[in-house]
Amino acid sequence: MEIRKIELNGQVFEYQLNIKQIKRCYLKVVAGKIIVNSGPYFSINEIEQLIKDNQDAVLKQIDNYLIKYDYSNGGFVYIFNQRYQIISYDLNNRKTVFHDDKIYVYHRQIQTTIEITLKTILKQYIEKRIQEYLKQAFILPMPAVEIKKYKSRWGACYPKINKVSFNLALVHLNYELIDYVIVHELCHFLQPNHSKQFYQEIKKRLPNYKQCEKKLKEIGI
Ligand SMILES: [Zn+2]
Repeated sequence: MEIRKIELNGQVFEYQLNIKQIKRCYLKVVAGKIIVNSGPYFSINEIEQLIKDNQDAVLKQIDNYLIKYDYSNGGFVYIFNQRYQIISYDLNNRKTVFHDDKIYVYHRQIQTTIEITLKTILKQYIEKRIQEYLKQAFILPMPAVEIKKYKSRWGACYPKINKVSFNLALVHLNYELIDYVIVHELCHFLQPNHSKQFYQEIKKRLPNYKQCEKKLKEIGI
């Protein structure tokens, strides 16, 4: 892995270059970062030309990527894609209060305290949506819902114990993307693997699911 620099539209950006034993050269933007996976036979010129040829799409994806939180007094956190300003007081009380677009935190451990609230908010939303999906689109018993801080997945499904688990980071995103992850995990009760049939089950319920998948990949975790 190598970090290099490239100028796009008059601005300098870093990109990560991974040389791999592959035949082609792939470009992607993950979490606002440019990543190129290239076979060993491409020159730097060819690699950078690929980035330049896709400059508009790359810049758009970088712009779309937003930092979701800054857990400090005066910082912010996105909840369901809405920005809330953080105002904290050191009162040794793990409590948060919402007022308009502000979230008041009464403990010096700002992140831990806010995350307790976010867990509750996300769990309530997901449980409500699952109940709605079970009425309309699935014949399944209500599963247990768990919220966890995963490093590299948005959700998980455990059919044997009738449980679905979701990444706390989903709470920062818009409802459409969260709903996609919910439907994705519910479809795993019908099809355990990411087979063609699995994606057919998703498509029946969310015809535009590919856009959501793409967006989640771009956001990264
Ligand atoms: Zn899956």
